[in-house]
Amino acid sequence: MSEDFDGSGGYEKTHVDENYVRVPVERLFSFVKSVLVRLGVPEGDASVVADNLVMADLRGVESHGVQRLKRYVDGILSGGVNVHPDIRKVREGPSYALVDGDEGLGQVVGRFSMELAIEKARKAGIGVVVARNSNHYGIAGYYALMAVEHGMIGISMTNSRPLVAPTGGVERFLGTNPIAVAAPTGGRPFLLDMATSVVPIGKLEVYRRKGQEIPLGWAMDKEGRQTTSVEAVFNGGALLPLGGFGELFGGHKGYGLSVMVDILSGLLGGGTWSRHVKNTSERHSEVDHFFMAVDVEAFVPLDDFRRRMDEMMAELKASKRHPDFERIWVHGEKGFLTMETRRRIGVPIYVGVLEELNGIGEEVGVGRLMELEG
Ligand code: NDP
Repeated sequence: MSEDFDGSGGYEKTHVDENYVRVPVERLFSFVKSVLVRLGVPEGDASVVADNLVMADLRGVESHGVQRLKRYVDGILSGGVNVHPDIRKVREGPSYALVDGDEGLGQVVGRFSMELAIEKARKAGIGVVVARNSNHYGIAGYYALMAVEHGMIGISMTNSRPLVAPTGGVERFLGTNPIAVAAPTGGRPFLLDMATSVVPIGKLEVYRRKGQEIPLGWAMDKEGRQTTSVEAVFNGGALLPLGGFGELFGGHKGYGLSVMVDILSGLLGGGTWSRHVKNTSERHSEVDHFFMAVDVEAFVPLDDFRRRMDEMMAELKASKRHPDFERIWVHGEKGFLTMETRRRIGVPIYVGVLEELNGIGEEVGVGRLMELEG
């Protein structure tokens, strides 16, 4: 197992080499926010989107960080995203609500909906909010963690455009439909945040920028052959669903989880399923989300829960290790450690992404993010 340390004692989840530049977190955040504000996004909403994208880079999720800003910019410029949405409750009960996102930025619809789920859980013990008519909302974990700040368990899911073939199929049908579950502990929260495909498409975008081949087992070409070529995947191929190690056509478990996400986030709210979801730059992209907050105190005292979570995680980490591994991790831990390091020494941005961000800055008139040294 290879792990990357920054040389100053901090841990980083992903490999950072000379092709990356470090950008202070505040600078990165204000750049993203000012680009969005310049495009007409209200300040508060721009902060939410910037927070979500920068959190992804801080946590080592390069696939869903600021490298995605261009996509949001294109979505706004093409009119696919409504920057002044009328986000409203369509139906509501004490513990649930259905929200219409009015084609707003997914992060803005997502934050609104998770805040509503938390408010409901505070009164009813549990809050479920389904949002339809939204857009790409970035990392699912962002919303699950919001519940943890209130001593609650948070769950968040979204459907996304079709990129994944079902087990036994070759056609892009399912989205990479992520699932995030977060729970409070005495320290860093537990956070499982994952695509239901072997990898999200953003990871292939990172490989494409770097001109690298992908490992076998991630995707197939349009004929259904496993491939290491990123271009073969972008050119009509499909990603494989998670699980089913060794199965040519991907795992039936990831396939099932992906369909579950479509049911809970799409069909339950009268929205759609991945096959009919479109790109952010298109009108009516029809992305749907699911949010759930569970108030721990409604079940057991929160302090007891936190203590027992700590005990379980400590037991997990102290359990007998395989000789090839240096340690046993729990979900979210690598991301939080990476976040702590990057807040201190800066967020690594790949040079190709920096060039693109500088171009966006010039184009919209907020200036360049940063110059390459030397
Ligand atoms: P990863 O495979 O990187 O990580 C999945 C989970 O496993 C994380 O919770 C991670 O925690 C944890 N983890 C990693 N290694 C270990 C280990 N050795 N032991 C225990 N836990 C571990 O995630 P994906 O690439 O699948 O997804 C990346 C992001 O993409 C997610 O944030 C997801 O929400 C987002 N996404 C968004 C989509 C959208 O349409 N909006 C679509 C698809 C994905 P840790 O953070 O600590 O590493």
